[in-house]
Amino acid sequence: MLRDRLRGELVEPTDPGFPQAKQLQNTEYDTVRPHAVAYCESEQDVVACLRHAQDQGLGVHIRGNGHSMNGWSTGEGLVIDLSRMNHALADGPIVRLGGGIQSLDALDALKPQRRQIVTGTFPTVSAGGFLTGGGLGWQTRRFGVGSDRIAAARVVLADGRSVRCSATEEPDLYWALRGGGGGSFGIVTEFEVHPIDAPMMTGFETLWAYEDAVDVLTAWQEWCVAGPDELGTSLVVLPGMFGPQGRPVVRVWGVHLGPTEQLVAELDVLAERAGAKPISRTVQPRGTYADVMHEALCGSQTVAQCHRTGSGPEARGHRHPYTRQSYRLTGRAATRAESSALLDAWDASLEQEKRERYLLCIALGGAANRVPRTATAYAHRDARFLIGYQMACRNVSEDPGAEARLTAWADRAGAALAPLACGSYINFPSSRVSEDWETDFFGENHARLLQVKRAYDPENFFRHAQSIGSRTLTTKAAS
Ligand SMILES: Cc1cc2nc3c(=O)[nH]c(=O)nc-3n(C[C@H](O)[C@H](O)[C@H](O)COP(=O)(O)OP(=O)(O)OC[C@H]3O[C@@H](n4cnc5c(N)ncnc54)[C@H](O)[C@@H]3O)c2cc1C
Repeated sequence: MLRDRLRGELVEPTDPGFPQAKQLQNTEYDTVRPHAVAYCESEQDVVACLRHAQDQGLGVHIRGNGHSMNGWSTGEGLVIDLSRMNHALADGPIVRLGGGIQSLDALDALKPQRRQIVTGTFPTVSAGGFLTGGGLGWQTRRFGVGSDRIAAARVVLADGRSVRCSATEEPDLYWALRGGGGGSFGIVTEFEVHPIDAPMMTGFETLWAYEDAVDVLTAWQEWCVAGPDELGTSLVVLPGMFGPQGRPVVRVWGVHLGPTEQLVAELDVLAERAGAKPISRTVQPRGTYADVMHEALCGSQTVAQCHRTGSGPEARGHRHPYTRQSYRLTGRAATRAESSALLDAWDASLEQEKRERYLLCIALGGAANRVPRTATAYAHRDARFLIGYQMACRNVSEDPGAEARLTAWADRAGAALAPLACGSYINFPSSRVSEDWETDFFGENHARLLQVKRAYDPENFFRHAQSIGSRTLTTKAAS
């Protein structure tokens, strides 16, 4: 029995923990009922799961911590969960990360070891999906995408072998794992990453009236393009339910790696470019990298509290409700007219619907764009921004027409983004699957990704709706 062969835990549908074990970050996938969920604690556990699934004719779903927006880490087969393989160890010039470690745990574990790593801007995203898809965040401009810093990885392959890949061992696999997306080539049990040298940082937040949104959105993009790599920042347009006095609001926030005076001067430049004054502006005291990132990701919550609700006795991190989204990468600052069109698609007149929705932009460029497009599988070396729209519904089953309205809104948003787009990021997939999604996600690297897939997983054992080869490779039948 698989249960007896695991150091970790197997949770089957009849076990009391199953309703919790099958959850992803988004509640939409709570209706999916996997064959079982295996919490692996070692590479041997992963191999045992793989062999069991193959012997039983089951499909597998690799899960880091379940943040896939389109539910790619669950299904009716065996969920191979890596979340307990969550070590973060400084080892000479590199840092070893378990395949399922969450950003907040890595930051916390590495703090006393005086190491810092690149993470995204959400606390519970795991390295497994984040790094294999690329890995974008506030450190992108200064230190490149997260996967640029992978020195090596240990991977369990479809034939049951465990290999280490690096520039000199299994180099094609090493290339593909840096941006080709999770769930396509094998199960990464450990990453070896180059840490970053960013001991101190300053966090900031500014809020702007919605009436200034076009000017702020336009100015923010120009500001990012002209600004230093030390600036990591996002902009979000939020509906009234999240704004001061119940009014929609624009939030610009992030971190700065240089001296605080430089950040203050940069924020003055933003206000000048926008020709508007923020409702509020907060510049936090300069602090250690781990503390500033913890504050940005978790606010005043402790590490235990910041984990996803249900994952521990103190955990209260929120889950996301049913959502429809459109995201694209853009290659330049939008003009004022284009920013205005982006806000038209946001559609302020929907305010009375009282739905959770936002227009989110993350600044990219800098070091990430000084790497050739084909050097790793992550091709988007000309992207300056990730821009997208999300709308959510908390009680979709009791809200007739909600699914159609959310889909229509996300589609309109996608159409507004299309003229600006230079590609799409595999880790922020749109709900609507486009005809040419392979080119959109991987550009000219898709052909090589297919070759690597054929070499390492010719029977397409590792797959999900948008994995490499999911449209072209034939697959052995499995659930
Ligand atoms: C709220 C939220 C905020 C986000 N913020 C950011 C951000 O700031 N920056 C950013 O770049 N992205 C961000 N993302 C996107 C995130 O990086 C991707 O969703 C990522 O794939 C999630 O990784 P996961 O392991 O937690 O998710 P999972 O759903 O577990 O996995 C995602 C995909 O990776 C595969 N996978 C997971 N672990 C492994 C592994 N060890 N080996 C091989 N394949 C694996 C899965 O099979 C699946 O296909 C965010 C997502 C959400 C929902």
